[in-house]
Amino acid sequence: MDLIKDIDIITAEEAQACDFKTTADENTGKSKKLYIESYGCQMNFSDSEIVASIMKESGFDTTSDFEQADVIFLNTCSIREKAEQTVRKRLSQFQTAKKNKPELTIGVLGCMAERLKENLLTEEKIVDVVVGPDAYRDLPNLISAAEEGEKGVNTFLSREETYADIAPVRLNSNGVTAFISIMRGCDNMCSFCVVPFTRGRERSRDPHSILAEAQDLFAKGYKEVTLLGQNVDSYKWSPEENNKARLNKKEDEVTEVVNFANLLEMVAQVSPYLRVRFSTSHPKDITDEVLYTIKKYDNICNYIHLPVQSGNSRVLDLMNRTYDREWYLNRVKAIREILGEECGISSDMITGFCTETEEEHQDTLSLMEIVKYDFSYMFFYSERPGTLAAKKFEDDIPLETKKRRLAEIIAKQGELSFERNKLDLYQEQLILIEGTAKKSDQQLKGRNSANKVVIIPADKAKKGDYVRVRISEVSQATLFGEVLEVNPVLA
Ligand code: SAM
Ligand code: SF4
Repeated sequence: MDLIKDIDIITAEEAQACDFKTTADENTGKSKKLYIESYGCQMNFSDSEIVASIMKESGFDTTSDFEQADVIFLNTCSIREKAEQTVRKRLSQFQTAKKNKPELTIGVLGCMAERLKENLLTEEKIVDVVVGPDAYRDLPNLISAAEEGEKGVNTFLSREETYADIAPVRLNSNGVTAFISIMRGCDNMCSFCVVPFTRGRERSRDPHSILAEAQDLFAKGYKEVTLLGQNVDSYKWSPEENNKARLNKKEDEVTEVVNFANLLEMVAQVSPYLRVRFSTSHPKDITDEVLYTIKKYDNICNYIHLPVQSGNSRVLDLMNRTYDREWYLNRVKAIREILGEECGISSDMITGFCTETEEEHQDTLSLMEIVKYDFSYMFFYSERPGTLAAKKFEDDIPLETKKRRLAEIIAKQGELSFERNKLDLYQEQLILIEGTAKKSDQQLKGRNSANKVVIIPADKAKKGDYVRVRISEVSQATLFGEVLEVNPVLA
């Protein structure tokens, strides 16, 4: 799933689907080839860049063709059942490759590895290694053992690991925008969610290493970084302790604490020509201090991904989201007051959670109408084994009802996206060009501060340029712009 995807008109089935990204060809003369397919969220794509870096040190270049590979990794997602089914189906498609090349090593990494552990080796005979998200430093050992015919599993979850010292190998990069992982794990216990079980406790990465990564990307020509975490507003680091739960207990014993607003400011100061984005914000944690920091720096984008999940307070309580409808709407009010109408706001929504009534579903639709989201990622509830909801509640909403409710919120979001996009008509905006447009090579695609895709003619600018445009036309998914100025002075 693209973190920031255009909202085209999608069906309920498509909303639940799981995309993947593969490695590109890199030939630096290493003796062996690694092929990675990454599923799920942007955190997973970022992890694959860490994995590629660790494997590079151990003699592997990446390839885009799994038939050329000595090692195939599937970096997996467990968030919905469909994501796991996709991976199992894909594994079966590698049977022929393994038959033709018995020395091929196949590894399952990420959340599914963590959730299923050694069971994966018995259930999927083709798999040689199973490695959880905190054990990637052990990959070279496990791969050597697998080459000797020994299958291996490492799903140890760490309380401190952040891979801060590992310089990611950029995969699928457009050379303009990059993701920087700032924290790992999650200490929230949303009752529907498998993440706390598959990615462990929350820990924050050393801000100096984050800053160094942002500076290095900027020096290499990148113009935008997105700071990534399951709950970025909860970022909290001290030189003595990076584990959130432990740090909260001994806050008066540490020499310094860096919070998310501090970190945002540090990264924003790299250069006015380096845009800064972040994701995901949890409604219970986003502070006015963060909103004022966004306001203070033109290069921090005016866009907040603030997943609500449901518009009904009883359902939010069952989901253990720790906020209610009123709290959420107050946070949106603060965003509008501090950052204005033009700040982009997007959401994640789950329909058909356990016991959700028709009226409660209507509350989600009415909340969407009040907030007027620019776009949303929308799913129907998928029960995950081991989660609080699976243990405590019956998954009692029929699939057809879940899908119908999902189709209704998708349709509502379509209307709202169009309504919001119309407000951009004839406005002057600054966009950053990311490359050629999907539909025509006569057009370039950029994004405005609010994270909306803006299309301009290709002859006026090039990838990596900042362009001041006037929005001349809008659709539900896209804005079209006239070029006013290329690479204006931003300092
Ligand atoms: N940490 C982020 C937050 O709290 O907003 C979300 C991370 S999760 C990888 C992305 C989204 O997947 C969630 O916001 C939720 O909407 C959806 N999701 C998680 N568990 C789900 C489940 N069991 N069924 C359906 N959707 C789910
Ligand atoms: Fe899952 Fe909730 Fe953590 Fe997001 S905040 S990763 S939904 S437990």
